[in-house]
Amino acid sequence: MPLYPTTIAGSLPKPAWLAEPSKLWAPWRLAGAELDAGKRDATLLALKLQEDAGIDVVTDGEQSRQHFVHGFLEFVDGIDFTRKVEMGIRADRYKAMVPTVTSELRLKGRVHADEARLARAHTTRKLKFTLPGPMTIIDTIADAHYGDRVKMAMAFAGLLNTEARALAVDGVDVIQFDEPAFNVYMREVEEWGIEALHRAIAGLSCTTAVHICYGYGIKANIDWKATLGGEWRQYEQIFPALARSRIDQVSIECRNSRVPTSLLKLLDGKDVQVGVIDVATDEVETPEQVAAVIADAAKYVAKEKIIAGTNCGMAPMRADIALAKLVALGKGAALARKKS
Ligand code: ZN
Repeated sequence: MPLYPTTIAGSLPKPAWLAEPSKLWAPWRLAGAELDAGKRDATLLALKLQEDAGIDVVTDGEQSRQHFVHGFLEFVDGIDFTRKVEMGIRADRYKAMVPTVTSELRLKGRVHADEARLARAHTTRKLKFTLPGPMTIIDTIADAHYGDRVKMAMAFAGLLNTEARALAVDGVDVIQFDEPAFNVYMREVEEWGIEALHRAIAGLSCTTAVHICYGYGIKANIDWKATLGGEWRQYEQIFPALARSRIDQVSIECRNSRVPTSLLKLLDGKDVQVGVIDVATDEVETPEQVAAVIADAAKYVAKEKIIAGTNCGMAPMRADIALAKLVALGKGAALARKKS
């Protein structure tokens, strides 16, 4: 691995022939066997685009799932998707109609075997795979069975662990859990959120990561961020606990973020995926801007522990802009390498 290896948070936009562009929850434009074939083709494209942009740790671009949480839930028995209730999500930042857990949770089978094996067969780069984190899952689903949020989170963590272990056997090098709920429920992170992650990574031989962020560039998130003040210090409460955890890497947003970079010191000992690409704006970063964020992070994190990444997933972005940002990421990390 070079100094400042590059990666993306996880998702890339899907081609317009596969799903409606520029939206979350984009409806598929294909069905049945054609949809399956389309997902495979899009996965190969996503790998190629990342390789050509100089991304060192590539992902499947999440081309096979409609949503980062529900892509997993679709493969879980015990959830009634027709029993929808309105729930305030992320401490009531927005309301959503969510499905209900009605009996004991069980995996129907493998969740991401097809895309993981396909990706592994077609790239020699390090391969990262993303799964939703237990706390974020239970913040997106109602409970009519467990009667206890933490108990339900631990049940999901067990299922995640089963899939994660199988992904490692498929040849995945890094498994990342996406926990945007971690900067909303700071007290719970310490109380049980990290314990749930530990359950999800139990027995894994590959590298593990957690992605925390302030969300995609959608309106509800942008409005919420405007209420957080000039400095975002939520991470100050959870970084020490993450530093003590058994998770290897922490992925966070740094580009155009109001998180004081000095807080990264609190992650001492961890590899840090430093978000150097803002996914909430269509303005494409220059390599110099990317290198500057890396240089800033290097004041607080040992250079060999820095991985350059994107602030969050790029799924809802315009495809041409996402690609330009991917290229900026590769060039910016190369520039930072040259300067150091
Ligand atoms: Zn994110």
